[in-house]
Amino acid sequence: MRLLLVEDDALLSDRLRVELEQAGFAVDVAANGADAEFMGESEPYHVIVLDLGLPGRPGLDVLRRWRAGGNPVPVLILTARDAWHEKVDGFKAGADDYLSKPFHTAELIARLQSLLRRSVARSHGPLRVAGLELDEDAQTARISATGETFELTGTEFRLLRYLMRHPGQVLSKTRLAEQIYDFETERDSNVLEVYINRLRRKFGRELITTRRGQGYVFGTGPA
Ligand code: CA
Repeated sequence: MRLLLVEDDALLSDRLRVELEQAGFAVDVAANGADAEFMGESEPYHVIVLDLGLPGRPGLDVLRRWRAGGNPVPVLILTARDAWHEKVDGFKAGADDYLSKPFHTAELIARLQSLLRRSVARSHGPLRVAGLELDEDAQTARISATGETFELTGTEFRLLRYLMRHPGQVLSKTRLAEQIYDFETERDSNVLEVYINRLRRKFGRELITTRRGQGYVFGTGPA
């Protein structure tokens, strides 16, 4: 199970990482809000532990942006002790559970396992948008009308998933490029165009519209 731990307190996150790994999670750590937003958006985590007090961008903003982008990943927030309003705001922003600091790691692990059981139980099935069905486990996409199914490379999959989570929105090249490059790779918009064109060849040109100087729109067809 892949887990994203968002916590700016290095002592706490070092300790939690070890304990969560011992409990069987594959743990990535983000120490600020901007990294957390990016990683939660681009990597397929099964569950996220999100501290609310973060440098740069507050945890609640990060959570709101994930939910606005259609990201359904289960999120457990870490709140300050006795800050009941943080819990209310957290649930309103789309949190699934909370734990107040300080806490016992055993309780965190029990709550995460409970969240994971619930998210498997309500298993949302393939993402269906604009006549396409995306199977996130198999990383394949199927054209609903014909039943034709395509295997996707990792990059094609991440780009298509992002497009399908934001149908009808103008998506800038910068935003889309973030989905196909890792942190180190140099960003070259020609590479993005190559991947957009690969998706168009598989699924039809009309699926992704170019907006000159603005970016791309998925799923609305020709204007
Ligand atoms: Ca903090």
